[in-house]
Amino acid sequence: MHVRAPGKINVYLGVGALRGDGYHSLATVFQAVSLYEDVHASPSDGFSLEVSGEVDVSGVPLDDRNLALRAAKLLAAETGVRDGVHLDIRKGVPVAGGMGGGSADAAAALVACDALWGTGIGSRGLHELAARLGADVPFALHGGTAVGTGRGDVLTPALARGRFDWVLVLGGRGLSTPEMYRRLDGLRAHGDSLADDALELLEVPVAVLQALRSGSAEELAPVMMNDLEAAAVLDRADIELVLADGVRMGALTGIVSGSGPTTAFLCGGPEAAGALRDELRASGRDALHVHGPVPGARVVD
Ligand code: ATP
Repeated sequence: MHVRAPGKINVYLGVGALRGDGYHSLATVFQAVSLYEDVHASPSDGFSLEVSGEVDVSGVPLDDRNLALRAAKLLAAETGVRDGVHLDIRKGVPVAGGMGGGSADAAAALVACDALWGTGIGSRGLHELAARLGADVPFALHGGTAVGTGRGDVLTPALARGRFDWVLVLGGRGLSTPEMYRRLDGLRAHGDSLADDALELLEVPVAVLQALRSGSAEELAPVMMNDLEAAAVLDRADIELVLADGVRMGALTGIVSGSGPTTAFLCGGPEAAGALRDELRASGRDALHVHGPVPGARVVD
């Protein structure tokens, strides 16, 4: 069983107050992009895993910390399946890059094992298990463009017309997502902070949703925002340099993806994106041209 699931960009990422459960409230817009994780699931007596890929996979745990393995075991436990599975993960999404690669693996493993075992759990059941595995896993199941609230796991589909062209610049060594949230809390505690009521009134601006609806990259560019950018830049000063380079070379705008260090540049169309990718590569950056929105975790024939 072969399932493919996409990585994501947060077109907008507003971070609110720290909640009692240790997560932050979010108001975010996810877009799934054409950079994929491929998961092959085959019948086995026990649970096992192998990971390879076009990206550096040395940071991926192969034990029970691996989200895909946890997804398979959770699905088996919840549906009374006694079979095991061997998961072969081929990663296209950078590890700890702020693009939700581990979450995509978990979503793909859920869909692949469900199809392999014929559990009959249904899409609601899968969504519920996805939310238990991690805040970004429901979106990787869902794909497309969606507003995420709560921990990012309460999804509302957003209308997005047409296609958006992005150039990604991979940032080398990954950044820890929990660490970036802690840094943001630190920055805010030191006065670089939002008023308490701003944290409470967290929502995605109407202008972002309108720009997505109209399918206009030119409208979307000025309203994109990521509250975690300040934290990522604190760790990697070169991110600011990359962002400035991308815009100088013709991007409409650039943003840190999720908790970084990947940066995402919005372009006016496929040709502009191809030209920007080439120029960034010529200057020594690891750049890729992708587009969104694309569907969530799907069985590949
Ligand atoms: P987030 O989804 O939190 O934004 P990210 O996209 O920055 O995370 P991921 O590649 O999803 O980063 O993984 C972050 C960490 O999760 C890794 O450093 C690794 O320790 C752990 N992890 C668990 N399972 C996986 C997996 N299947 N693939 C990659 N990393 C995994």
